[in-house]
Amino acid sequence: MSAIFLSFWYYNRSDRSALRFAAAFLMCALGFSINHFVLDKDTLANAIVHNTFYAAGLYLLLDGIHGAFGRKVPKVILALIGAGSVIGAIIVQVSPAELNQRILWINAVQGCMLVVSAFTLWGIWKRNWTGTATYAALCLCIVNMMTVAPYYVIRSMITEDTFFQTMYWGTMNVVATLSVLAMGGALISACVMQRLDLLRADAENDYLTGLKTRRAFEEAARLYCSSRSGDVAATLILIDLDHFKEINDDHGHTVGDQVISRFGSFLLENTRTSDMAGRMGGEEFCLLLPGTDTNGARQLATRLRETLSTLGFEGLPDKQKITASFGVAELGQRTAFGDIYPQADAALYSAKTRGRDRVVCATPPNDAGKPIRREIFLALPDGSRIPASRMAS
Ligand code: GH3
Ligand code: MG
Ligand code: MG
Repeated sequence: MSAIFLSFWYYNRSDRSALRFAAAFLMCALGFSINHFVLDKDTLANAIVHNTFYAAGLYLLLDGIHGAFGRKVPKVILALIGAGSVIGAIIVQVSPAELNQRILWINAVQGCMLVVSAFTLWGIWKRNWTGTATYAALCLCIVNMMTVAPYYVIRSMITEDTFFQTMYWGTMNVVATLSVLAMGGALISACVMQRLDLLRADAENDYLTGLKTRRAFEEAARLYCSSRSGDVAATLILIDLDHFKEINDDHGHTVGDQVISRFGSFLLENTRTSDMAGRMGGEEFCLLLPGTDTNGARQLATRLRETLSTLGFEGLPDKQKITASFGVAELGQRTAFGDIYPQADAALYSAKTRGRDRVVCATPPNDAGKPIRREIFLALPDGSRIPASRMAS
C-alpha cells in the first residue's frame, strides 16, 4: 500500500495526501512488525514504540483523508488523542493492569481519533463513490477498534499465555486486514479520480490563457447549438490578433506568450459569465454569446477592439499597440456549430483583407432568434451598482 501511494506522489508531487497515505501505511506496518516480531512483548519500550507508530500512522491517514476530500483536519484534537494513547500505554504498562485492560485502553483511545474524523468527514459519501467507499472503510476501522476488542475483553477470552491462539487475535487480524484493504482500495481510487480530474482540467483549459481549449470549446459549443431554443439569438465571434508573427520576431516568443495570456484575461474580464470563450490555437480566439444578436455582438466586438488599442502589454514598448480583427456570425433557428464557424471565419478573413483592426459581421440569417435584453449596471464610486436606465432618468 505504501509503495502504491508513494508512486502516486512521485508522479504528482503536489498530491500531498498520497504522501501522507504512504507514510501512514508504512507507520502502521512498522508498528505491527515491531510489536509482534521485533521487540519483546509486554515491555515498556515495545508499548511506547509500537503505539507511537500506530498513533502517528492513524494521524497521517486521517490528515490525508481530510486533505483529499477538502475538509479541515482537527489537527489539535487528533494530535492530543494520539499523544494521549501513547501516554496511556505507558501508564497501563507500568501499572499492574492486566492484558485485557491494556488492549481495551489502546483500541478505545486510538479509535477515538477515527470517531472524531467520522464527524468531521460527515457527508463525504455523498460526493462520489470514492467518498462512499472511504467513509465505509472508516466505519469498518471504527468497528474493528471499538467493538472487536471490547467484545472479547468483556467475555474475558484473552489470556496472556495463549494470546496468539485466542479468538480475539484471529478475529482482530481478519477485521484489521479487511479494514486496511478497504481503506487502501478506497484511497487508491480517490487518488486515481483526483489524477483523472487534473488530466481532464488540463485537457479542457488552455494553460496559457485559462480559456477553454479548442476541443473543449467545440464540444461545449456543439452541445449548446444542438440543444438551444432557436427563438433566442446567439452569435459567434472569431478573433485573430493582427501581425502577431512580428511580435514574436521583434520581441521574442516569451513576450508573444505574455501577450496571448493577457489577451485571454482581457476577454474574460470583458465578457459575461454566460458567454463562452476559447483559444482555438495560436493567437486565434472564439466567443460564443448566447442571447446576443448581431447588433449586440458588433457592439461587444467594437468595444473589445477599441479597448484593446488602449491596453499596455508587459514586455512591449508603451507606444506599441496590439490590434485584432473580428468576424461575427449569428446563428439561425437550427444552425449547427459546424455551419456557423465557417461563416465567422469568412467574416474574419474579410476583416483581415480589408485592412485588419476591424469588425466584420456576416449578414444575419432570416430566421434569427430574439436577443435577451439584459440590464446594464453602472458602478458608483461607493462600490454599489445601479441599473444604467435609472441613472439616465
Ligand atoms: P495576421 O494579421 O494575418 O493574422 O498576421 P499574423 O502574423 O498574426 O499571422 P497568423 O495569424 O497566420 O500567425 C500567427 C502566428 O502566431 C504564427 C506563430 O508564430 C504565432 N503563434 C502561434 N501560436 C503561438 C504561441 O502559442 N505563442 C506565441 N508566442 N506565438 C504563437
Ligand atoms: Mg494573426
Ligand atoms: Mg492566426
